[in-house]
Amino acid sequence: MTVVTRFAPSPTGRLHVGNLRTALHNWLWAKKHGGRCLLRLDDTDLARSTVEFADAIQTDLAWFGTAPDGMVRQSERFDLYERRFEELRAAGHVYPAYETQDELDLKRKVLAGRGLPPIYDRAALRLSDEERAALEAKGIAPHWRFKLDHTAPIAWYDLVRGHQKIDPALQSDPVIRRADGSWLYMLPSVIDDIDMGVTHVVRGEDHVTNTGLQLQMFAALGATAPAFAHEALLVGSEGKLSKRLGSLGADAFREEGIEPLALAALLARIGTSDPVEPVTGLDTLSETLDFARFGRAPARFDLEELKALNAKMIHLLPYAAVADRLPSAIDAAAWPVIAPNLTRIDQASDWVAVLAGEIDAPAVNEEDGAYLATAARVAAEIDWSAEPWAALTNRLKQETGRKGKGLFLPLRQALTGHDHGPDMASLLPLIGQARVVARLERAAA
Ligand code: GLU
Repeated sequence: MTVVTRFAPSPTGRLHVGNLRTALHNWLWAKKHGGRCLLRLDDTDLARSTVEFADAIQTDLAWFGTAPDGMVRQSERFDLYERRFEELRAAGHVYPAYETQDELDLKRKVLAGRGLPPIYDRAALRLSDEERAALEAKGIAPHWRFKLDHTAPIAWYDLVRGHQKIDPALQSDPVIRRADGSWLYMLPSVIDDIDMGVTHVVRGEDHVTNTGLQLQMFAALGATAPAFAHEALLVGSEGKLSKRLGSLGADAFREEGIEPLALAALLARIGTSDPVEPVTGLDTLSETLDFARFGRAPARFDLEELKALNAKMIHLLPYAAVADRLPSAIDAAAWPVIAPNLTRIDQASDWVAVLAGEIDAPAVNEEDGAYLATAARVAAEIDWSAEPWAALTNRLKQETGRKGKGLFLPLRQALTGHDHGPDMASLLPLIGQARVVARLERAAA
């Protein structure tokens, strides 16, 4: 069996971090099994779906490293839905219903008043042919419901949640098609999952009840249902999918300098008992993805945790992996010296001036000025072929009696313009003797 997963967003908005997580898990699961991950654009809502959002979804998935192996748009598949709907109708699995929204609301209120759950009473099933004809003669077009089979409980083994059971008698027959002929999400999704050969549906636990109902649709359409993995939702550190998290997507991560692989490393693991740790590729994450390790509690997403992981992963990146994103002054020798100071790769350009340009060193007092003048002289005298920083600071220690901060900080400031930064012993050879001497002379003056 070839594993086929699908990520099925509606192109009615940008992907947020929760969607990216679902996309990732589908992609990783397919790769883990040498299978395929498809993108299905759930764009049956023609009024709200846009080409711009559809394009943005594909751009964001490509940025994330989870580009799909194929794509379908539901809006191009209405003929298929019509055919399969006809089959269901002919077999009595769907039925027309004529209640208006107001009538349905009223029914629900009456039930609530009696302390009963808001389950549709199937009044439409009891209409005679004449009554139906009379309603249609009045110009009332029906919407369509799927007739649930009440004879046995719906049960499945969920890859995250384990054994699941739903009593169909406690569910309303789901509306699958509106009076204007447009489709609701439920049935097209099942028809597509069958047609696309989907073997695993990975989605949020907000779909658990839908799955129960959809399992009956798979059966009614004569298909074997895929396996399901329903994940606990993603929440912010404050405990819910906040508005902020809901708008946190690929653009925002890019702006924050977050590497897509760092985001993946976090999103593959939060909600599991496995540690969040740096990885060098998505393959590590797919090999270790196991739905049984996901808990039922919401997964907590913390932007600060992501930033810390991002920095850690940047520090581990080999030069070859980042060379095309670095200014030319940051070469193979400079990268490992600079990298430990970065929390995002574009900060590398902050160090170009230190290595190869002009810096602004802070003004110094007379005493430090004299010290730096001595340093300039020593820097010109020492042997630069071995360890010039050790040679320089050892000589200065002897000559001036300075130690600790008084010895090192004026040098760092004069040579880099910063109080903190890369290891000076590694940095000094990169700046080079001529520039070091010139900077110390200038700072001394
Ligand atoms: N378009 C649906 C959603 O975004 C798809 C759910 C599913 O994966 O079946 O909720």
